[in-house]
Amino acid sequence: MGTKLLEYSTTCTDILIIGSGAAGLRTAIAAHDSGVKDVVVIGKCKRGDAHTVLATGGINAALGTMDPKDSYLVHAADTAKEGWFIADPKAVLALCRNGPNAVNELVRWGARFHREKDGRLTQRFFGAHTYRRTCFFGDQTGKEMMRVLIRQVRKRKIRFLGDVFVVSLLTCKGAISGALAIDFGRGRVVLFRSKSVVLAAGGYTKIYSRSSSRGFENHGDGAALAFEIGVPLVDMEMVQFHPTGMIYPKSMVGSLVTEAVRGEGGILLNSKLERFMKRYDPVNMELGPRDFVARSIYTEIMEGRATKHGGVWLDITMLPKSRILDRLPKMYEKFKKYDNVDISRERMEVAPTAHYTMGGVDVDLKGRTRIKGLYAAGETVGQIHGANRLGGNSLLETVVFGKIVGEDAARFVKTHRLAQVDHIELERRLGQLGSIFGKSKVDGERIRQGIQSAMWTYAGIARDGARLSAGLREIGALRRRFDRVRVGRAALKENLELKTTIETRRMFALCEAVMKSAIARRESRGAHYRTDYPKTKESLRLNILSHRTAGGGVGLSTRKVPKVSGPLKREIEKLEETPVRRSFE
Ligand SMILES: Cc1cc2nc3c(=O)[nH]c(=O)nc-3n(C[C@H](O)[C@H](O)[C@H](O)COP(=O)(O)OP(=O)(O)OC[C@H]3O[C@@H](n4cnc5c(N)ncnc54)[C@H](O)[C@@H]3O)c2cc1C
Repeated sequence: MGTKLLEYSTTCTDILIIGSGAAGLRTAIAAHDSGVKDVVVIGKCKRGDAHTVLATGGINAALGTMDPKDSYLVHAADTAKEGWFIADPKAVLALCRNGPNAVNELVRWGARFHREKDGRLTQRFFGAHTYRRTCFFGDQTGKEMMRVLIRQVRKRKIRFLGDVFVVSLLTCKGAISGALAIDFGRGRVVLFRSKSVVLAAGGYTKIYSRSSSRGFENHGDGAALAFEIGVPLVDMEMVQFHPTGMIYPKSMVGSLVTEAVRGEGGILLNSKLERFMKRYDPVNMELGPRDFVARSIYTEIMEGRATKHGGVWLDITMLPKSRILDRLPKMYEKFKKYDNVDISRERMEVAPTAHYTMGGVDVDLKGRTRIKGLYAAGETVGQIHGANRLGGNSLLETVVFGKIVGEDAARFVKTHRLAQVDHIELERRLGQLGSIFGKSKVDGERIRQGIQSAMWTYAGIARDGARLSAGLREIGALRRRFDRVRVGRAALKENLELKTTIETRRMFALCEAVMKSAIARRESRGAHYRTDYPKTKESLRLNILSHRTAGGGVGLSTRKVPKVSGPLKREIEKLEETPVRRSFE
């Protein structure tokens, strides 16, 4: 096929939603309910599958079913505090204020969240929450949310396509005009023309070698697609490392061991069987903030108190098997199947894993980007969780901001026409796509693994300036080698090599943004831990923006974070005066 322009078919729609996880689906429902019937939702995975199905532990809302003192303001105070005060306070308030309605709506739509004997929704503790506010469906909350949302999408007859992979966004005169995609199922290129585009394409944890996502998702497509057309990214250095991922067998490395295990009473032990969290955080123990627990485990491993496979033990054998099967059925099944471990009788071996990306596309409170008609929602977006995310808040974010974005996008399309297609840009994009095919002696898969392990080594849990700079050089060298990678098979249908090549090509800009922002943030804050700058600096309570430079590289700027004020400020002060004790009952 060489550089010959590829043929394509055209589909026109009012709103194109890129991503069919919880955020994309909730956006589609809201747009439809706001009167826009011509909505198309696409995903690069199979129809009905998205990273959201992995979500285990639950979704937060200050419903106060277990702890009546809870309120959305306490939830917001916990969220702002855990974000180390670089999240936008207005976004935090919107998230928490809308939480109860969002969860009740899921229940009305049929979500089977766990209930107490008297019918109240059960709410459990997650790390660093003041009160119990996490609703759950066993340890398959994400799957349950997807089931309910897909049903609502189908009820509204919203077009919903799987195996459709967006290659680039298209603009005309500063407004979004659509997207170019490959339909891998049918083996053809599709030009989507649409008045508005919503990026709900997930996060970027897969730039790391150890990640809790599956191999085929979370490559940061949303952030990279926006960045390529000039939308800034924010706080890209903020990557959450979950304390507990599987480390054995090799095929399961990084796979999540839900925080609910610790929420249900699980304890962490080193190779000497010491409950080491006593030394690091005697008050919160295993239920401290994720970044802190992950760093504590990392320290145990680095100081030589690791288990056989290089992790620590997670022990829940003190619980009756019936409770484990009731509350943690998926965990029980996973360890039995892959590690031949019965977690009701034996300890699990775990170590930290890249789990969630707080950084992402820079948007306003309605999810609008700087490009007219282009929105973003869900994990693709930055600045809602600041420097660290509270467990259970991201599922909440998908449905709260999905609704807000869908409603605003609907308003937008009612007053705007379909933008023209810029044919010069379109031909350039098609030319770029065509030029990927050809003969190559360079092994793209090895380079991809090289990127992931460089990110883990140089921009992982503990960072320092010298190593980050070395990592940046290594990423640059890998990029130069990757430029020579070509895809041998010219067909489009189910061409996995083509898909991974495009994903990998995009990852470079994200890695550069993470490394450069991490170098610029000369402090430790939340998930970003610099061994050479271990203290948090008030002067750096700001957001770091990554911009695309004229040469296609990453330039940085900073922005002040809006001040926390009013009732939220008072709530945070109260929290600090009287820390509430947690119990597992
Ligand atoms: C193991 C695990 C457990 C978790 N547990 C919890 C939990 O208990 N509570 C909680 O709050 N959060 C949890 N999270 C986080 C939470 O699951 C995610 O943040 C959330 O599901 C993200 O949803 P989303 O809709 O934004 O994106 P996703 O669900 O990631 O969906 C992204 C969509 O974009 C599509 N896409 C991506 N790129 C392209 C492209 N180029 N073209 C077309 N489509 C594309 C994908 O196919 C997919 O449909 C967990 C995460 C993991 C990994």
